[in-house]
Amino acid sequence: MHLKIITHEKVVFDEDADEIRTRGVSGEFGILPNHVPFMSALDIGVTKVVQNGEARYFTTMGGIFQFKNNEAVILTDIAEDGNDIDVTRAKEAMKRAKTRLEEKAETLDSKRAEAALARAVARLKATKNNN
Ligand code: ATP
Repeated sequence: MHLKIITHEKVVFDEDADEIRTRGVSGEFGILPNHVPFMSALDIGVTKVVQNGEARYFTTMGGIFQFKNNEAVILTDIAEDGNDIDVTRAKEAMKRAKTRLEEKAETLDSKRAEAALARAVARLKATKNNN
């Protein structure tokens, strides 16, 4: 089967894959070749792509997953190859978001802080290859 991971800005991945695991809004799911047509909204998380027994990891942050006729498409706001992630930046973003959530300032936008935390966690997970 084939997988494309596309953002507004670029095509992050456009190759054949033997297995795809990703995080939908209702939980994680996996797709193998010849799966029936399937569509899901995506959560902020990590997409694992297996090619010839080797796994690669990408962040995928929201958007939609569609599978039909062995063609998978992930259309997402932000996607990054796990190898391109700046770990220090992600750790700092995680720390900032955690501090904001702990301090609970009156002006806190908790949804925004939680989303920032989820993005940072996904980035760190994608770099560590420990999905
Ligand atoms: P930060 O607070 O560090 O900017 P963020 O989660 O607010 O993190 P986003 O708004 O999700 O950042 O992303 C803005 C742009 O920066 C996107 O193009 C994204 O791919 C890139 N980006 C964000 N964090 C990282 C990172 N740790 N490594 C590589 N690219 C990153």
